[in-house]
Amino acid sequence: MNAARQNPQAATLLWAPRAWLQGRWQEAVLLEADSTGHWTSVTPGQPCPPQAQALPGAVLPGLVDAHSHAFQRAFVGLAERREAAQDDFWAWRDRMYGVALRITPDEMRAIATHLYAELLEGGYTQVCEFHYLHHAPSGQPYAEPAAMAQALADAAQATGIGLTLLPVLYERAGFSQPQLRADQRRFATSVDQVLALQQAVRGPRVNAGVAVHSLRAAQPASILALAQGFSAGPLHIHVAEQTAEVDDCIAATGCRPIEWLCRHAPLDARWHLVHATHATAQEIDRVAASGASVVLCPGTEANLGDGLPDLPRWLAAGVPLSLGSDSQVTRSWPEELRWLEYGQRLLLRQRNVAADPATQPATAARLFDRVLAGGAAAAGLARWGLVPGARADLLLLDEDEPALCGLPPSHLLDGLVFAAPARPFRAVMVGGEWVAGPWRAGSLAEGPPAATQAASGAPGAPADAGRKALRTLAQPGPAPG
Ligand SMILES: [Zn+2]
Repeated sequence: MNAARQNPQAATLLWAPRAWLQGRWQEAVLLEADSTGHWTSVTPGQPCPPQAQALPGAVLPGLVDAHSHAFQRAFVGLAERREAAQDDFWAWRDRMYGVALRITPDEMRAIATHLYAELLEGGYTQVCEFHYLHHAPSGQPYAEPAAMAQALADAAQATGIGLTLLPVLYERAGFSQPQLRADQRRFATSVDQVLALQQAVRGPRVNAGVAVHSLRAAQPASILALAQGFSAGPLHIHVAEQTAEVDDCIAATGCRPIEWLCRHAPLDARWHLVHATHATAQEIDRVAASGASVVLCPGTEANLGDGLPDLPRWLAAGVPLSLGSDSQVTRSWPEELRWLEYGQRLLLRQRNVAADPATQPATAARLFDRVLAGGAAAAGLARWGLVPGARADLLLLDEDEPALCGLPPSHLLDGLVFAAPARPFRAVMVGGEWVAGPWRAGSLAEGPPAATQAASGAPGAPADAGRKALRTLAQPGPAPG
């Protein structure tokens, strides 16, 4: 852990040649954070005072990873072979459960630490954990019921990333299957358990919301009870990711999934619909009218063969959007935004689909600003970005990165998303503290940043435990019981 987090922080005064403020690059920006690690002022057009730390590149606000299942990092790269005539989401899920059934709290901590260091390097400074791996492999609660949630909080603390814990309500196997399957026994939760879990872990960079796994995995009465019993944070739900789920919902309720939520939940600004891939124009308009948001996970949705969202309509309707790493096949937001736009280009045989010539002709900028604001809402954070009152997070760009060099400053964000730099960020700050990246600021005299240390692989370092857990879980385990 970085020593800076154990001691009272000094105030931070930084100067950047340019920073992304109010939707555009602004020059010569002075950024000041207080000893609590929050911005107190962000002012463009300023000379660099002698006491300020001059940053060697442009700075961006960090983004929120609005949908993560940390344990699935242990499964990345292990499901890319077709083992039967048919291979789809449901076959993937059966294989993923085989890993989920074996993970211990110590392995969860190690894998999440490994993952969160990767997410920081990928430009995320806050992660929303859609957390449903609650119980021991037997299905019995741990002696400490929040052991797995605490493992996630420990990983966040070790790396420096912010965490929004979203304990998940999970009650049944399907619309017409009132019991859980045997291989879902670790997920079983009641509304009261979810409400207790969301209070179980807290910290300076930890907050909480709640989640419903999906309409198929929870009773309607329980969904409504959770929505009525919790008003202190965001409420997330997987919805309309797969066409089979849409068909089952229609058969069971007479409504499409998003339509059901609009009619019965009812949706409001607390709700974050994860995927919402298969939505009709009418459903999109109703979500827009409700104030609810959508969490897109383009890398995972491509990997699992989910389908493509109607991105132009979601954008035009003004629905807040955020990004999630979900199954962890991608762990950087520039890659997610590239996938999001490329899916639309391939589908529609057009270019710059997400751009709006009238208001924002730059594709990357329009998408970035949408997910910057949408991610903050998904994490339940009222202030976010390079603005006074927000946590002092930033990403220091490497403008000398081979893929970016030569680009005019006005096109840096375009290059970041579409020129695919290998390591775009020199350093990552969370709460006024450098936590990741190869760049050594003067304030890091006490040692490398927390997440860099976690990713270093030195014997005894958190990364050592992470790699060991990944190797263990990559071995075939006993068949799910
Ligand atoms: Zn998910």
